[in-house]
Order: sequence, then structure tokens, then C-alpha cells
Amino acid sequence: MNYPDIELYIDGRWKRASGQPVINPADESVLGTVPTATKADLDDALAAAQRGFAVWRRTSPAKRTQIILKAASLIRARVDEMAVAMTLEQGKPLDQARLEIVRGADILEWDATEGLRLYGRIIPSEEGMRHSVLRQPIGPVAAFSPWNFPMSSPGRKVAGALSAGCSIILKASEETPAGAVQLVRAFHDAGLPPGVLNLVFGNPAEISEYLIPQSAIRLITFTGSIPVGKKLAEMAGRYMKPAIMELGGHAPVIVCDDVDPLATATSSVAGKSRNAGQVCVSPTRFFVQESIYDKFANAFAEKAAQLKVGDGLDPSVQMGPLANSRRIDAMETLVADAKSKGARVLAGGSRIGNRGYFFPLTVLADVPDDARAMREEPFGPLALVNPVRNLDEAIEKANSLPYGLAAYAFTRSAHNAHRLADDIEAGNLSINHFVASVAETPFGGVKDSGYGREGGTEGLQYYTVAKNVSHKMI
Ligand code: NAD
Repeated sequence: MNYPDIELYIDGRWKRASGQPVINPADESVLGTVPTATKADLDDALAAAQRGFAVWRRTSPAKRTQIILKAASLIRARVDEMAVAMTLEQGKPLDQARLEIVRGADILEWDATEGLRLYGRIIPSEEGMRHSVLRQPIGPVAAFSPWNFPMSSPGRKVAGALSAGCSIILKASEETPAGAVQLVRAFHDAGLPPGVLNLVFGNPAEISEYLIPQSAIRLITFTGSIPVGKKLAEMAGRYMKPAIMELGGHAPVIVCDDVDPLATATSSVAGKSRNAGQVCVSPTRFFVQESIYDKFANAFAEKAAQLKVGDGLDPSVQMGPLANSRRIDAMETLVADAKSKGARVLAGGSRIGNRGYFFPLTVLADVPDDARAMREEPFGPLALVNPVRNLDEAIEKANSLPYGLAAYAFTRSAHNAHRLADDIEAGNLSINHFVASVAETPFGGVKDSGYGREGGTEGLQYYTVAKNVSHKMI
């Protein structure tokens, strides 16, 4: 079995420790042990991150870029081995695991080269005075990444921090730790100086409560649920730490009657089944114009029922298991509630087998607004399809929740597209496709979905501070 040893990484050294089991969601077997960091380990990581920052901020941007690009090239070379570990621990099919790893490498490469262009400004001033704005790395970062994207989510945080000249303590997911271990190993092998990147695991609440207040830590970045995000944001506020919060979503999909309902249903199945719907930008609430509603809903259900669900190591499988038993419980609860309120089950609806966390792509139609699934992020393979009369009604419904991460729309009309771009309340709107973000674009939410951006020029800025140097010639 190609599952790596999971260790802590502090000050350039790997450290074994006892901890908790890592479970394969396809068969519930134990893959390995994820170590628990002690307070002493966290103190070591804090001291190392401060020393690492002192070295890294003075390393030339060209040298920093070279090391990050070397790590990215090692990741590309190791994609097959990394993908197997990811499928084992997280469940997604191998081809999706490979895509995630390649995407992680894309992000590292894009941020690394953008790090060369963190320009400041000279502000015109009176004779004898010069105002210069310097973009400086903010300092050691405490990063918390989730279990749904074991490599690209921590990769995004590491890419931003290191490209801007910061050091980082990464607390990655205990449930899917191999992605972060392999990411860090690539940096170790690429010659990253000790202390610049540190990796810990343990009790998430204990670690965040210990790290966030520390004076050494200058920025918090968290990807995960809204309740936890609010807790960490509150703590960050109390200790005056800026934060990037990438929280949950409940993405609407507006399907206008000027598109082909069958083609849109086919791409919706691909979009919804990606990572078994365990994606913060997963398309969930489908608002379809009445005249194509039946055709779209039936085609969606038919294609969903044809998806092959199984162990992601099997190359013919299109959707793997859910990553943990909590997601099965959530799917069962939300489906039962929606059914009891009158929703129609067009496809799926109940767990597959009782070993491994398999749940089919489930399509519910005519789901009333008071069904819990219409308001609570399912974070699983659940699609809710409802008719709307027109674009106004669709936009109103799309914006009706406190979430605002991703939104999607399908239309051939430039008029509709402009209207959607103006009025949809979300950090990311994708028109006629289901890709919410790429390396070069900023990604993040509005409303309860969080604040700050990752990726693109905007993302890197969050890891810097603008310092104004006002110099009078004497
Ligand atoms: P959860 O709320 O218990 O945990 C969410 C994440 O936060 C996990 O990675 C967990 O390790 C971490 N976490 C929990 N408490 C923490 C703390 N006090 N300090 C630091 N980190 C902490 O939920 P869960 O069952 O693991 O995940 C399900 C929910 O999380 C989903 O409904 C979804 O909304 C959300 N989620 C979102 C994303 C995303 O990409 N935005 C990713 C994973 C999970």
C-alpha cells in the first residue's frame, strides 16, 4: 500500500509521534497514524517560524522563486504516487486526485512568479521629499487547511506565504494528512531553509487556540466551515491578527431557457459529482427556467443514476466514497427532511452498502424553501432542482441565503450575463462552466462565506503589508 508515514515537520526536521488513526473511507481500514503535536512541538514550530522568517524575508525573490518552482516540479514528477495516497485517505477517484495535485503545482508556480512582482510605489511629492510604499511580507503565518483538498488547499496557503516572503506553520487536516506531508516533503527536497515551512497535526481547537494569540503569528488563514471560521475570526480579532477566511458555500446555478438543457444537465452531473460534492463551491441549488425545467431535471437524474460510484482506485469509478461518516449522516438527514417536506427524489437518495462511506449522486426536485437542504450547505453529492419563472426570480433566490462563495449561470444572452455579473452576491461567478477558480484568479467569499482572497494578484497581497517610507532630503 502506497501510504506514506505521517510525521510532524518542524525546523527542517521530520518528527514521529503517537496520535490517531487515518481511515480509508472506501473500506474503513486504518491507513496509518497521524501524530499529535505537543505544546513543546508548537513552541518549537513558533521559534522555527520566526528564525525561518528572518532568513526567508532576506532571501532574494529570485532565489525564493527558484526553490518554490523546484518544489512544484518535484510534485509534478511525483503526481502518481501522491494521487494514490490521496485516493486512499480522501476517497476521490485517481484522475481527480491527479488533477488536484497538478492544480496545486500550478498554484505554486503562479504565485512563485508573481512573488517577483510584489512592486511598491513612489508617490509624487514636494521637492526634497520622497514617499515610497514598500510591499513587505507580513510575517509568520498560521494556516489551517481542511480534509476535502488534502494537497491543493494547504498548497494554496503555502504558495501565498512563501511567495510573499513569509514563513508558515501549517496545521493540516488530521483526516487527510498525506497530501500536506507530501507537499512539505517536496519543499524539503527542494532545499527550503529550515523553519520557513512547518507542519503540525493534533487537536484542531487546541492548536488554533494556542497559535493564534502568539505574538510571533502575524496572519491567520483558515479554510473550513462557517461556525469554526467565525470562532477563529473572533479570536484573530481579539488578538488584532488579520485573517483570510475561506468558509462554506451553497452555490446557486441559474439555468436560463436559452441554453441546451441536456448539455447543461450533463455538465452539471460532472460539476456536482466532483469530489463527491465535498467542495465549498459545489453547485447545489439549481434554478431552472420553467420552459426547460422538466427536460433539465430528467436528464440530470438520468445521467446522475449512470455515474459509477466505488473505490476511487478503480479507474472506471467516477465518484468515490464520502470522506467520513459525518457526511453520510448529513446526507441522510437532509434527504429525509426534504422528502418529508414534499421534495421528489429523482435519483439516488440512500446510502450504498454499509462498509465504506458510499452515497450516490442524489437529485431532488421541487424542494421547498423550508427544507433544511435549501439553507444548510450539504457538502456532499446532493443537487436541488427547482423551477423559476424568470431571471429576476432566479437572482432573488440565488441571493437569499447568507452564503456568497461561488455561483454559476448558463445563458447565451449577453444581457443576462451582464445582469448576473452585476447582481449576484458571490465572490466568484462562472458563466457557462463549472470552474470556480484557477491559479491566476482571486478566490473567496462575501457574506458568511468569509473574507480575504486566495490566488491571483489579490491573493498574494494578503501576505504583505504596505509600509510607507517618507524620506526628507537634508
Ligand atoms: P467542522 O466544522 O468540524 O470542521 C471543519 C474544518 O475545520 C476541519 O478541517 C477541522 O479540522 C477544522 N477545525 C474544526 N475546529 C477547529 C478549530 N477550533 N480550530 C481550527 N480548525 C478547526 O466540520 P467537518 O465535519 O470537518 O466538515 C464539514 C463542514 O465543514 C462542511 O459542512 C463544510 O461546510 C465545511 N468545510 C468547508 C470547506 C471549505 O473548503 N470551505 C472544507 C472542509 C469543510
